[in-house]
Amino acid sequence: MITPDAAWSIVLSHARPLESISISLTEASGYCLAEDVRADRSLPPADRSAMDGYAVRHDDLQRRPCILRIIGEVAAGSFQRPRVKAGTCVRILTGANIPPGADTVVMVEQTQEHTGLVTIRSSVQSGSNILRQGEDARKGSLLLRRGTRMDTAQVGVCAAVGKATLRVHRLPGVTILCTGSELRSAHDRVQAHEIRNSNGPALCAALADEGLVGTKFISVADRRRTLVATLRRALRCYDVVLCTGGVSAGTYDFVSDAVEAAGATIRFHWLAMKPGKPTLYATAHKNRHIFGLPGNPLSALTAFHEFALPAIRRLAGHSAEACRTAWLLPLADTAESSGGRVRYELARLVNRPNGLAVVAVPSRSSADLVSAGHADGVIMLPPDQTRFAAGQLVAFRPWRPLP
Ligand code: AMP
Ligand code: MG
Repeated sequence: MITPDAAWSIVLSHARPLESISISLTEASGYCLAEDVRADRSLPPADRSAMDGYAVRHDDLQRRPCILRIIGEVAAGSFQRPRVKAGTCVRILTGANIPPGADTVVMVEQTQEHTGLVTIRSSVQSGSNILRQGEDARKGSLLLRRGTRMDTAQVGVCAAVGKATLRVHRLPGVTILCTGSELRSAHDRVQAHEIRNSNGPALCAALADEGLVGTKFISVADRRRTLVATLRRALRCYDVVLCTGGVSAGTYDFVSDAVEAAGATIRFHWLAMKPGKPTLYATAHKNRHIFGLPGNPLSALTAFHEFALPAIRRLAGHSAEACRTAWLLPLADTAESSGGRVRYELARLVNRPNGLAVVAVPSRSSADLVSAGHADGVIMLPPDQTRFAAGQLVAFRPWRPLP
């Protein structure tokens, strides 16, 4: 059995960012850049005022009281360029370009205006309240690297440099096959021998958080032929197929067999992790990927966040390092593990006065989905230790987008 990290290296060696497409900036949120974005001009493009006030020559401020004649006004968007000469000033508004001759802006709050004149009482440093041309970025400088995920600020940056169309990586198409003859849907009436399919809806929700809205799941009965046919069809249409259940060694666990019969190559099966031991990964032609996630809900979600979701991010163009983030956080309380394999324990973030910490959320078994409802993710407890003291740093893997 290989470790989860060794398994992730295998996934990473097969998952390549998908081809790039052109997209309008207004639709780009959630996509990863397939090109670098550079400044098409300096930012700010010219020296401009950071305040409402008066554009003056600093030399004129040496006299007390200083009274200057207002010779004009420049507002944001105005092309007026009245020249400021000795003894004069220009009324200026935030965002307006600094008129020629002026070298300082005095805030309106430090002045008094009266019939075409302005009195300045306080002292002001030379160059105050001016945003300099190019101080944020010089023309041609690199603003966003390829692989950057487009979110609020990145969309704003692109708009500021006139990037109305972007090259981004296509998002992967994902489908979910939930195996199990016992599965019924959330709308169905259920009998004692039946289970509601919780993995399908939970995985769809996790994918929607990632920008893959509208992913579908289907339930597939535990019949080998049905599963092979369904997998074949799925591999024709989707980049990633997530299977849940049927991946262990039971009589009706057909996933590993069916994956091979459908023409895919198994890259790993059985990992030194708890839960999630039977997790399987296979690849097919043309950058297609199959994840066999165990059926028990906590095992399925653990393996999904360890391997499948990071792989989906990689296909979507995230940099290899950004696909599978974990944070080192102190334990708010003691934790225990049986050791031997990496133990994934549900955990909740706690915002304490001295900083963020994690606390383990006890679960009864890997079927105990209810306990996951109180968790923000998992902590990963290394195999060579069984007791963990409060304050010890542990790796935390978030299972949901965090504020
Ligand atoms: P399996 O991995 O197929 O042996 O399933 C392990 C356990 O998880 C069994 O008790 C299944 O009934 C349960 N299970 C499998 N798939 C799902 C699912 N989609 N939603 C909820 N429970 C499931
Ligand atoms: Mg099953």
